[in-house]
Amino acid sequence: MAVILKSPAEIALMREAGRIVAITLQVVADAIRPGVVLSELDALTNKVIGQHNAKPSFKGYRGFPASICVSVNEEVVHGIPGKRRLQQGDIVSLDIGAIYRGWQGDAAMTVGVGKISGEAQRLIDATRGALAAGMAAARANSHLGDVSWAVQSHAESQGFSVVKEYVGHGIGRQMHEEPQIPNFGLPGRGILLKPGMVLAIEPMVNAGDWRTMILEDKWTVVTADGSLSAHFEHTVAVTENEAEILTSL
Ligand code: MG
Repeated sequence: MAVILKSPAEIALMREAGRIVAITLQVVADAIRPGVVLSELDALTNKVIGQHNAKPSFKGYRGFPASICVSVNEEVVHGIPGKRRLQQGDIVSLDIGAIYRGWQGDAAMTVGVGKISGEAQRLIDATRGALAAGMAAARANSHLGDVSWAVQSHAESQGFSVVKEYVGHGIGRQMHEEPQIPNFGLPGRGILLKPGMVLAIEPMVNAGDWRTMILEDKWTVVTADGSLSAHFEHTVAVTENEAEILTSL
C-alpha cells in the first residue's frame, strides 16, 4: 500500500481534527491529579470531543472500549481507563484520537501526578525531546529513517530505550496508514518524505529495557521489566520547510 498524499484542502480539515485533539488532550491533562479515577478521564474525553462535533477515533477501534488510552507508570500504551485511581508520583500517558468530517488527528503526552521522581521527570523530558527531534527531521527530501534515527538517538543519549514493537504511522482518513514509522532506524534509509505526507510520530520510551508484554486484558502494553515508560505523539504535515504540527494549540 502506498503513502497517500494530502492536498492543502485536506490538510486544512486535518488541522481542525488535530486542533480538537490538542484541546481535548490539554483539558484532560489539566484534570490529572491524585485521586482522579481513570474512567473520569474517558468521560471527559468523550465530552470535549463531542462538543467540537467530532468523534473519538479509539472508541470501538478493533473493539477498544474507551475514547482515550490511559497508560500508568510501567504501562506503555493502550491502557484501558477503568476504576484505578491516580496516586501522587504516578506518571500517566494520555493518547487521544478524533475524527472530524472524516479526517483523523492523533496525539499523546505523558504527565506527572503531583510530585514525581527525578528519574520519571527525566524520562518524560527525554521522550518529549525525542518527539521534537523526530519532528525536526521530518522534512521534504529527508528519509523516513532520518526521523526514526533522530527519535532513537535522542532517547538513547539520555540513557533510555525505545520500544520496538509499536510504531508511529501515516494518518489521514484512516488512523493508521502507510508508512509505519519505527522509533529506531538508520539515517538515509526508508522512503523519501514529500510535502503532503501526514505522519503521526510517537516515541514510546522506557526507563529500562525496550521489551514489552501485553496484559490479560489483551490491550494494555507494559514494559517487560516493570520499568517506567513515557509516550509523546503529534500528527505533523510534511512541507518544503519545517513540518507543521497539526495537533498543537
Ligand atoms: Mg498514533
